Amino acid sequence: MSDETIFDKIIAREIPADIVYEDDRALAFRDINPTAPTHLLVIPKRRIATVNDVTPEDEADLGHLFVVAREIAEREGVAEDGYRLVVNCNAHGGQSVYHIHMHLIAGQALGWPPFPR
Ligand code: AMP
Repeated sequence: MSDETIFDKIIAREIPADIVYEDDRALAFRDINPTAPTHLLVIPKRRIATVNDVTPEDEADLGHLFVVAREIAEREGVAEDGYRLVVNCNAHGGQSVYHIHMHLIAGQALGWPPFPR
């Protein structure tokens, strides 16, 4: 397991965040550097560094992220128009925070595919 990240500090309320959802195993908050009108991050409270570290024991926590994403998409009013859920892994995936997280990006039509740098 890699070291604690800034997301652990958000979970512990040691640094501020615009939290939009919390339950016993997940937290969702607004991305500090939004790439679209709605850009939220949905994270498990129990830290898993990357998708490469996922084990069968993580299935419930990670599956729960989809339930939370569905709930907050509805609350944010973007469910019907649609949105994108993204999980980046390691350098080539563009991961910068090593606490697994799902981006929920919405509020405008998004391009596809994501191009290489
Ligand atoms: P990724 O690049 O997939 O690891 O995504 C990490 C995301 O976390 C980026 O979109 C950052 O803008 C966001 N981020 C970093 N620090 C904070 C913070 N303190 N509060 C909210 N979002 C953050």
